[in-house]
This record gives sequence, C-alpha cells and structure tokens, in this order.
Amino acid sequence: MTHAERRAALEAVATEVRSCTRCRLHETRTQAVPGEGSPDTEVVFVGEGPGFHEDRQGRPFVGRAGELLTRFLATLGWRRDEVFITNVVKCRPPENRDPEPDEVAACAPYLRRQLEVLDPALVVTLGRHSLGRFMPGERISQAHGTVRPVDPETGAGRALAFALYHPAAALRSTEVERQSYEDVASIPTALLDARNRRASALASGEPIRS
Ligand code: URA
Ligand code: SF4
Repeated sequence: MTHAERRAALEAVATEVRSCTRCRLHETRTQAVPGEGSPDTEVVFVGEGPGFHEDRQGRPFVGRAGELLTRFLATLGWRRDEVFITNVVKCRPPENRDPEPDEVAACAPYLRRQLEVLDPALVVTLGRHSLGRFMPGERISQAHGTVRPVDPETGAGRALAFALYHPAAALRSTEVERQSYEDVASIPTALLDARNRRASALASGEPIRS
C-alpha cells in the first residue's frame, strides 16, 4: 500500500468509528476517538479506551496520562505524530469503568483494520486491557518491558508486542512511573528485534509465526 492508500484506509475506519453504534458505549459518548498518527509508522501504541478529555476532544491520550505518554516518547526522541496512538475501545466507558468483554469484542474489528493497514513492526500495549488482546493470559506485573509474537488474528501478524504499564498507573505510583521509564528505554531494542524478525522471515519466505 502507498502512503496515500494507507491514509485513506485509516480515514475510512475513523469515519465509521465516529458514527458507530455497534455497542452501548455509543449512547454515552460525546465523541468517538478513532486514534491518530502517522500512516507510515512502524510503532503503534494501544491504550484501553478514551477518558474524559479524549471523549470531549475526539483525540486519544490528551489528558494527564497522555502528557506522560508524550514525555515517554520524548525520551526516545519521538513525537506523537510520528507514531500511531489508539485504543482497544474507541468510545469512553461511563465513569471510566473497565470496558466490558462484549464492548471490546464489538470494537475489535476497527483496531484490527487499523493494524492491517499500518502493518506495524511493534505494538506497544498500554495497560491490562491492551495487554489482554496482544499477550493473552499474561500478567502486566510479569510482562511489562518484554516482547511476544502477536496472533495474526489481531491484524498485526508481523509485529512483536511490547508491554508497558498504563501511563495512568504510573501517575498513581512513583515506582510504576520509574519502572515505566526503564521499560520505555528498551523500546528501541524491541523495535530492532521486531525489524530483524520481519527481515529474516521475508528472506526465508516463511510466514512470521512462532
Ligand atoms: N487512557 C487510555 O487508555 N486511552 C486514552 O486515550 C486516554 C487515557
Ligand atoms: Fe462502536 Fe467501538 Fe464505540 Fe462501541 S466502542 S460504539 S463498537 S466505536
């Protein structure tokens, strides 16, 4: 796909998301939050779902957790608009409750399509709900800072997943914050691993699975 085709395909997903009524979260949202970023990125950050400010602005990670995510990126010399940032559910759960399994399932096709278009090398999961989609069965306390191959069913079949704590958890605990900065510092190594894995799979003609 060319840059223009990827951009158009992502915009088509975003347009559907903005008028989606596939789950009950549409009833209480102000605006849906499809996600945003570069159509050409190798790295996609996936959070849980929009909060108060995201719901108002229609943009992901624009509240305090988003400021911290932006600082994490800055430590790598990355800007928000160089990566892609989105969520497992695109509409805010009321009172920021956890998304229900049926809501996650209803919304999954949008994230899958975004990932199919972006075909990232690395999916960085932010928090438990995102971890659950990309590293099923793992615990965040064990998995943070580590990579796993990704199930092609997610749409990111040629990616590695890299787990981070949710930035909101880092705002609540200085220890989680310290650990998160340490984990973020190993993202470039994880990205190199992910690139090498894609390159060797390409060279051998093998589908990338483990
Ligand atoms: N928390 C999330 O998980 N996603 C956002 O977009 C904002 C806060
Ligand atoms: Fe549609 Fe997802 Fe919003 Fe539910 S959360 S209404 S499935 S966009």
